[in-house]
Amino acid sequence: MNTEYIAYRGECIRFSGNPFQDQQALEYITDALLIIENGRYTYVGDYHSGKHRLATLKISATKISGLICPGFVDLHCHYPQIDIIGSYGKQLLDWLNDYTFPAELAFADPTHCQATAKKFISSCLRNGVTTAAVYCTVHPQSAAALFEESLTRNMRMIAGKVLMNRNAPTDLCDTVQSGYDDSEALINRYHQKQRLSYAVTPRFAPTSSNEQLESCGALLQKHPSVYCQTHVAENKDEVAWVAELFPQSSSYLSVYRDFNLLTPKTILGHAIYFNEQDWSLAKEHQITLAHCPSSNLFIGSGLFDMGTAIAHQPEITTGLASDIGGGTNLCPLATMNEAYKVSQLQSNSLTAAQCFWLQTTGAAQALSLHGNIGNIEEGLEADFIVLRANDSQDIQQRLASAESIEEKLFVMIMMGDNRLIDATYIMGQRQHSYQIENYAHHNSSR
Ligand SMILES: [Zn+2]
Repeated sequence: MNTEYIAYRGECIRFSGNPFQDQQALEYITDALLIIENGRYTYVGDYHSGKHRLATLKISATKISGLICPGFVDLHCHYPQIDIIGSYGKQLLDWLNDYTFPAELAFADPTHCQATAKKFISSCLRNGVTTAAVYCTVHPQSAAALFEESLTRNMRMIAGKVLMNRNAPTDLCDTVQSGYDDSEALINRYHQKQRLSYAVTPRFAPTSSNEQLESCGALLQKHPSVYCQTHVAENKDEVAWVAELFPQSSSYLSVYRDFNLLTPKTILGHAIYFNEQDWSLAKEHQITLAHCPSSNLFIGSGLFDMGTAIAHQPEITTGLASDIGGGTNLCPLATMNEAYKVSQLQSNSLTAAQCFWLQTTGAAQALSLHGNIGNIEEGLEADFIVLRANDSQDIQQRLASAESIEEKLFVMIMMGDNRLIDATYIMGQRQHSYQIENYAHHNSSR
């Protein structure tokens, strides 16, 4: 393979540490040089200190106008629900029956899977999401479609076919055997292929029998590098239902513990109604929590306790997630905005650096992928985005009076949307450009 070098020059932010422990962890380089070799950073630093390398490599740096930032990581979302975002007025268990299950039935058709996977990945790029942990439907073809589309775009994605064999429409149920076999076939076909990882994905405890949860534990034991993702303690009725369904388990999280589903590669969505025992189990098993604030507010589930989660670092790792379609926006700026407000309601003010870290470096650490993604540093894969105030005079005006990088980032969180995602780069290659997407047609028709 020929070595390919690319270089970019511009303003850049990255993290030198964890902003929950170090107030100086956000690093701002006003004139940065990024040199990328075959998709990975080989130099990141001040332009003037590094520019001699350009001459040696006989390349020049492309100037980027806007703020270069690590690509966003979404720890929990459902690609099949992209068309039910913003459906009105239900709480969790009704939401599933009235919106989610009918939408997921359509994924029996592979053509629908492919079309939706394409739409979802394009939407990720438009919103600056370069890695996500994604739930598919019960149909193995839904996962295959997402993996194939991710391969085409060379994206680092984690996904799995949902396992569900009870308390759901018959056409959305697998069996213990078919769920195991289909998951394993997908693991063999896609796990660790290019940048893909598989996640064993039981939807949540109520929709899997004891035998199915046991079979998930067996899959994880047989394939220890595979992730596990599921939901936990999102809604009070759900917690009561789980207690009824699993009388032998002493708390919600202990259900998953009892079936050997808790590993450092387990990502649990929500965790709003954790009791003392749940928190200590989470800590003991070093699990990852995906905080989904826009979903929790929209479906009326409750407020995630970020303060307690952070107090349990480093054993418990936490990051942010859209949880679309329960969440209302795939854009991580919107997720950070809601996360800030959810914490405010609990007298805990997250800083802009903390919000960005939970959606980049912190989320990558939570996935044990910090050796690959989540930051802008030498050796990592060059997934990054460019933030720039496009088409919003209100934001441009407000940013003009911002006095520090922290203030600018905070304004972007509070006022921004995906118009601020000027570009998204995967392994150093631009895969989305706001300007081209919004103006190319305009210009070409002149
Ligand atoms: Zn979810």
